[in-house]
Amino acid sequence: MNYQIAIDGPSSTGKSSTATRLAKKLSFIYIDTGAMYRAVGLYCKRNNININDEEEVKKVLNKIKIDLYYENGKQEIKLNNEKVSDAIRENEISKYASIVSTYKSVRDKLVRMQRRLAKTNSVIMDGRDIGTVVLPKATLKVYLIAEDEIRAKRRLKELLDKGQTVTYEQILKELKERDYRDIHRENSPLKKAKDAIEIDTSYLSLDEVTEKIYKLFKEKVGNEK
Ligand code: C5P
Repeated sequence: MNYQIAIDGPSSTGKSSTATRLAKKLSFIYIDTGAMYRAVGLYCKRNNININDEEEVKKVLNKIKIDLYYENGKQEIKLNNEKVSDAIRENEISKYASIVSTYKSVRDKLVRMQRRLAKTNSVIMDGRDIGTVVLPKATLKVYLIAEDEIRAKRRLKELLDKGQTVTYEQILKELKERDYRDIHRENSPLKKAKDAIEIDTSYLSLDEVTEKIYKLFKEKVGNEK
């Protein structure tokens, strides 16, 4: 039997870090859907596609091939056969991903891929629309939130650790812009699924969040897993 754990919420609430830990603990496959939107954004940036024009983006979608694979238990991503796991993490790509992800054509393509991946494996998938759109029948749905200032500090640390040049003020501003776009877009906006359990991660460690979700999952499935 395949299980599905859906983790949604705004950026820097700890989705991917906890999902990675939990996937290891449960031997599930972790699927970071944000990486796919980032890969589309990266393609558009590299090929000078006007991302503010959906028709322009739509025209090149069939030229974009995305492959997820795993190395030492870590998700890696290829864009047209080139490994881009680091390139998609450039801060500038966040904005590209956030804009292209508002388009139905882009979402249709990536959601199809995401559902296909969940069909043959037990998965933990994180994103913005996993519990509401991609996996509406997920075994467990979790919605993570955290205070804006704490999220901005987490993201700042992450980017500085990677050697990127950014400031706290810039990150906080960009974070709020991305939230606004995610929440107010017409296609699959970011929202908590009715049956999702909300966890505020502001003052919790990654281990604590992981443990909470692990317990919730065990309660759901009993001794099945
Ligand atoms: O999760 P991450 O910040 O890497 O995602 C990049 C962007 O992709 C988000 O800001 C969001 O706009 C978009 N996204 C989405 N739906 C998902 C995952 C990500 O719209 N399932």
